[in-house]
Amino acid sequence: MFGIFGHPDAAAITALGLHALQHRGQEAAGIVSFDGKRFHSERRMGLVGDNFSRREVIDRLPGMSAVGHVRYSTTGETILRNVQPLFAELDAGGFAIGHNGNLTNGITLRKQLVRDGAMMQSTTDTEVMLHLVARARRNRFVDRFIEGLRQIEGAYAFVAMTNKKLVGARDPLGIRPLVLGKLDGCPILASETCALDVIGATYVRDIENGEVVVFDEDGAQSHKPFPPMQARPCIFEYIYFARPDSVVGGRSVYDIRKNMGAELAREAPASADVIVPVPDSGVPAALGFSQAAGIPYELGIIRNHYVGRTFIEPTQQIRQLGVRLKHSANRAVVNGKRIVLVDDSIVRGTTSTKIVQMMRDAGASEVHFRIASPPITHPDYYGIDTPERDKLLAATHDLEGMRQFIGADSLAFLSVDGIYRAMGAGARDPVRPQFTDHCFTGEYPTGLTDQTGQQNTPRQLSLLAEAG
Ligand code: SF4
Repeated sequence: MFGIFGHPDAAAITALGLHALQHRGQEAAGIVSFDGKRFHSERRMGLVGDNFSRREVIDRLPGMSAVGHVRYSTTGETILRNVQPLFAELDAGGFAIGHNGNLTNGITLRKQLVRDGAMMQSTTDTEVMLHLVARARRNRFVDRFIEGLRQIEGAYAFVAMTNKKLVGARDPLGIRPLVLGKLDGCPILASETCALDVIGATYVRDIENGEVVVFDEDGAQSHKPFPPMQARPCIFEYIYFARPDSVVGGRSVYDIRKNMGAELAREAPASADVIVPVPDSGVPAALGFSQAAGIPYELGIIRNHYVGRTFIEPTQQIRQLGVRLKHSANRAVVNGKRIVLVDDSIVRGTTSTKIVQMMRDAGASEVHFRIASPPITHPDYYGIDTPERDKLLAATHDLEGMRQFIGADSLAFLSVDGIYRAMGAGARDPVRPQFTDHCFTGEYPTGLTDQTGQQNTPRQLSLLAEAG
């Protein structure tokens, strides 16, 4: 997501920002702008570069303010009416909203709203927020927005716009990232700092967990409508999701991934001739592993950059094909060598199995696999489209079973404490974990109303109560 307030090139800058955030969603993109009188919306299936690089498209988005979104569907099909930002005319005027994350009571609220006569335009969870704000009986827009936030549960970073304001918000735990920047004196909200770097904007700060920020003609306001809680950002942003050149929560993603590789080399060494990253997301960890183990790092796998992120391809069959299209063996590096492959994570095991076979076909004498994160044993409900539990390799196989499944000579994962050390957070605090990490621990930090029919669990309520 990206939003800018008060800049003459608002839509063009938003398109550039979205381009830098393309790794967060490749299915579709949208921009809404406001020209002082009217809102303008352009929503397209496909990549930002294919849809928003032509002048005539940007010219259809006049105005000094704009918000944009790239779609990676977790709730709702990949269809045009689900492309964000979503827009609606409320009694107070137009309102556009983009959402990163997933609401864990979105389905439940949606049923209630439809029962009360709401007419839904999309099948996304995000639209629930539009209706909650529309129904809030408050004078100030920010109060209506906060009334909506009080009713939703789960993970969210929002970037929204009205005819007078740019608004940003993060859920009480700060699971999904959102940062504030400035360009030519104009405030910018973006999912990651890489979007600020690409347009030469200065980084101001991260939007805090549970914070709502509002920018308008009178300047900036910050609101904290929730009881203060310790932030628990999603640790997978550091492992895979965020771009390596981004700084998330004050931590360089690239440095953290190198640390994860170094921790992994200490926890699970391997005697081998060469360290080979699974590109691109395995590269920093492989470098860290190589430097810690003192074993040379070589590009034994060449990536075809004209194939998207297979993990987020919509069907298994395309994922299968995607893997072969995406990677090819560099025989000169691999042939006759004992190699250690380093990757960021294993979800279904599809990619890992194919890559091990590809290394063997290229003549590797031994293939060891090292994963710079713990085994993923639980599905995500907060905006990362991991499959149901029975499709997670680590949820259905023990370590030896996974080794046999992918066909490696040895396999090891970074431990949960190892990943916390790599984050510079010390050991994991079992009472108040410093990060959201339930795909490894199974400990969900919020209620899962849609899944369990139960809002916040007693433990979460006690954490809330303790927070006062
Ligand atoms: S399940 Fe994993 S990816 Fe999802 S929010 Fe939790 S830590 Fe992040």
